[in-house]
Amino acid sequence: MTLNDGEWQSQARPSPGASAESEQVFSGLGVAPGIAIGPVFLREGGDLCPVERHVAAEQVSGEQARFDRAVTTARKQLGKVRAQAERLHGAAAEELGYLLDAHLQMLSSRSLVTGVHARIAERRVNAEAAVMAEIERIAEGFAAVEDSYLRARANEVREVGRRIVRNLMDAPIQGFAGADPDSIIVAEDITPADTALMDPQQVGGFATVLGGAEGHTAIMARSLGLPAVLGIPHLLRAARHGQTAIVDGSRGTVVLNPTAERLARYHRRQRELAREARALEHLHDLAAETRDGVRVTLGANLELPRELAPAVRAGAENVGLLRTEFLFMNRDTVPEEDEQYDSLARIVAGMDGRTVTIRTLDVGGEKLVTALGEQYTDTLNPALGLRAIRLSLRARELFIPQIRAILRASAHGPVRILLPMVTSVHEVREVRQIVAGVHAEMREAGCAVPETVPPIGAMIEVPGAALAADALAQAADFFAIGTNDLTQYALAIDRAEERVAHLYNPLHPAVLRLIQFAVAAALRARIPISVCGEMAGDPRYTPLFLGLGVRDLSMAPGALPRVKQRIRQLDVAAATHRAEAIMDQADSGRIAALLDDFNG
Ligand code: PEP
Ligand code: MG
Repeated sequence: MTLNDGEWQSQARPSPGASAESEQVFSGLGVAPGIAIGPVFLREGGDLCPVERHVAAEQVSGEQARFDRAVTTARKQLGKVRAQAERLHGAAAEELGYLLDAHLQMLSSRSLVTGVHARIAERRVNAEAAVMAEIERIAEGFAAVEDSYLRARANEVREVGRRIVRNLMDAPIQGFAGADPDSIIVAEDITPADTALMDPQQVGGFATVLGGAEGHTAIMARSLGLPAVLGIPHLLRAARHGQTAIVDGSRGTVVLNPTAERLARYHRRQRELAREARALEHLHDLAAETRDGVRVTLGANLELPRELAPAVRAGAENVGLLRTEFLFMNRDTVPEEDEQYDSLARIVAGMDGRTVTIRTLDVGGEKLVTALGEQYTDTLNPALGLRAIRLSLRARELFIPQIRAILRASAHGPVRILLPMVTSVHEVREVRQIVAGVHAEMREAGCAVPETVPPIGAMIEVPGAALAADALAQAADFFAIGTNDLTQYALAIDRAEERVAHLYNPLHPAVLRLIQFAVAAALRARIPISVCGEMAGDPRYTPLFLGLGVRDLSMAPGALPRVKQRIRQLDVAAATHRAEAIMDQADSGRIAALLDDFNG
């Protein structure tokens, strides 16, 4: 028997009028535009195969603690899904809520917890094996009773066991190798690391229960050009493997089993979108220049090496943000310097003389990488914890090899080093010292690195950094504004959390003032400043940025043509005028209206 999220949710009664055969339409957060049509690939369908291992007496308490942590994680996961379910109405909410409560209860059951602890201690087996055995014992107890209601709980017990084992194994992350072409991936959650495994030839788009609009999963979907809708509470309950689905990432709609009429309509819309994209191709050879002759630089954000070719094809003038997290994803060990160098050098060389801004490792918060284990990231408040540049400065064993790899890669073309989540000038100065030391050592050892150290810049993505931008501009060689985190931290809204996604608003006057402040500081100090958060790729915001004085934008490669088109229609004098009017407003609704009015 296969035990998976899809299955336990499908045990729930379908809501009136909905069956697996009839059309069902869902709304969620449309995070990556476009339309995908294809067969559903229900994620997490495969069985986990934990191996039984003998553990030594001194490892017993460690194994038990590992189990406890996996249970805590499972509780958090179920809590999140439970909260999502509360957004439903009527019978569906009740039913799903009931099931999830039952799972939560089982997680806390004394018989499970003490049973697993005892098994680890007495039989000296690893936590995975102990959980599987203990779960089977409890499930068989349920399966043997006459009462059909209690018998049905055997499956739920096994499902809870699978969740714990998956957490214990840190189970990354099945690939999507078995998926048919154009599959629509449907899952409870998809991590950024999962999206890195998606081959756009095979995966058409995806839809999930969890996830916010500006989390990294959303960003990766946009970068890969995969239509995606996140945050649909009862999706798994309804979806069946192999049935036809439509993901409309522009409208935030998912349709399961569409009617022939709707299917035909969406196919037509897909053809229209392809025509529109072709119509933008001529922009490739035209400059990003406004009607009044102001030149704007348009760069690409890269998350994966395979985005390099689309970026070059889309006419990117540089890589304004290379997120190096990709090197650390979907693996159990940290990549060595040589491996990092190979990857970075390929991208730098591939840009053929155009600058590549390489950001040092930005993990922590929602960006977890399994290779680092829990030692750095197991914290109560991960968004504010040991992450990004703080982690690099603490964990020199991670940072120095990365800096060496970047310096070696910079022999292949112009490179800048960008530091994530900077909050103070000390961090920039400390990095400068480290980089200078590493560079001197490498030169002395005869390594092929350029004579001078690349420019070192700071992300402006923490409100404190924006407010202290004048001082930072004395320490940093350039700024890159990260509007995703800047919005998250200014408004205290988790960018990856679907329940507060409606409050995430980069047009909040607080966010705009921080942007304005940072831009003005950079212009005063005469250091380059760019915007590389997701706002940069939305043509709606282009006049605002130009009006505030920004002349350098970096975005997902797929967004470049539309932003360039918008720039070519704009008059900077008029945009500046409108930006001034916008900066006088205290209400984000009014700001949005002023912007929309300007965009016509
Ligand atoms: C940002 O925060 O806006 C940004 C560009 O960095 P990331 O999305 O990788 O956190
Ligand atoms: Mg950021």
